[in-house]
Formats: sequence, C-alpha cells, structure tokens
Amino acid sequence: MNCEDEREALVSQLQTRENLSPETAAALRAVPRHEFVDEPRQDSAYEDRPLPIGNGQTISAPHMVAIMTDLLELQPGMRVLEIGTGCGYHAAVTAEIVGPEHVYSVEYEPELADQARETLEQMGYGGISVRTGDGREGWPEHAPFDRVYLTCAASEFPSAVADQVRTGGVVLGPIGSHRQTLVRGKKRSDGSLDREKHGGVRFVPLR
Ligand code: SAH
Repeated sequence: MNCEDEREALVSQLQTRENLSPETAAALRAVPRHEFVDEPRQDSAYEDRPLPIGNGQTISAPHMVAIMTDLLELQPGMRVLEIGTGCGYHAAVTAEIVGPEHVYSVEYEPELADQARETLEQMGYGGISVRTGDGREGWPEHAPFDRVYLTCAASEFPSAVADQVRTGGVVLGPIGSHRQTLVRGKKRSDGSLDREKHGGVRFVPLR
C-alpha cells in the first residue's frame, strides 16, 4: 500500500471507532503524518501508535490527536495555542481546521522547534507560529486564545496558560503525574474552569 491508501485506511477506521466529526476526519486525511517523522519511521506512520521524534520525545498516536481535535470543537478562525510542538504534526492537524495563521505553538527543545518549523514550512503550514521556550508561560503576546491544548502532562493546568484562555474558551490536556487523565476545562466568566474528565491517557511530562 502507498502512504495515501494507508492513511485513508487508518482514518476511516478511526472515524468509525471514535465516532469522529467530519471536520476532524478531514483534517487527519489532509496531513501526511509520514512527512513529520524520520525516514526509518515512515513505514510505521499509519499504525495507530506513538512514534519517537528524537530528544526522548514522541508524536502522539493518531487516535489521541483525533480525540483531542474532536474535544476541542475547533472552528475556522479560532485562535489556538499548543503547548509541546514536537514534530509539528498535531499543530498541522489543528491548522487544517482553524487556518495556519491562527495556530501558535510553544516547544521547549530548540532542536525540535527548529525541525518542526522547517517541516511545517515545507508542508505548506508555514503560517503556524512556533516559539522556543517554556510552555508554562503560554504565549501572552497572542492571548487570549479560544482554545489551548497541552501535548505533555502536567500536575495541573499551568496558571499562566489557564489565564490566557478567553471566557467561554477551552483548555484541554493530560493532567496527573503517574496516572494522567485527559481533562477539558471550559472557562467560566468568573475565571474558574468547568472541568470534565475524558479517560486515562499517557503523555510525556511537561518539563
Ligand atoms: N504535538 C506533538 C507531540 C509532542 S510530545 C507532535 O505532534 O509531535 C510533547 C512535546 O512537549 C515534546 O516535544 C516536548 O519537548 C514538549 N515539552 C515538554 N515540556 C515542555 C514545556 N515546558 N514547554 C513546551 N514544550 C514542552
């Protein structure tokens, strides 16, 4: 099978199994995951599992990116902050729905950030802004955000990050140290978060 056929097979399987929205499925169909991993990993790019991307980090499994994209209920034009750019794949999926120029992503490892910028540019997602730095600080210059998501686990949503979500906006991420739960918080007008749990997950830790 070629990459396109493999990707189609994976996405249609996920679409049925996870009951994905048409927007999420279309975004997954559009982004060539194999282009975001090293040559030796490309054969595994359409298996539903995490893959190493260097510096001890991993790209999340496709079903996890799909579930998070669905839970964020993204719409075109929404301003989105991602904490943990990694290889840039998840940011590209987000950009398919909201538009690249609305996506801001922070990556701790300079090497990963540089590589992600290069790949995103090559794949036509050069409008995505990537900053090297500590995601705990969010990206205040571009706040407030309609949506914020973490691709690394924290014991709690960092306060600066939660502060940068607009009222009525959503923050999503893996919360916990040993056992992590995917938590979605909707920002109330008093600034607090209305939280919902969405099952056990495993992500690399926020540093
Ligand atoms: N969304 C990514 C998945 C990356 S894995 C993708 O599609 O590839 C999580 C990433 O979070 C790693 O790249 C890791 O370096 C990064 N990370 C960890 N702690 C961080 C922090 N404090 N600030 C920003 N990024 C962080």
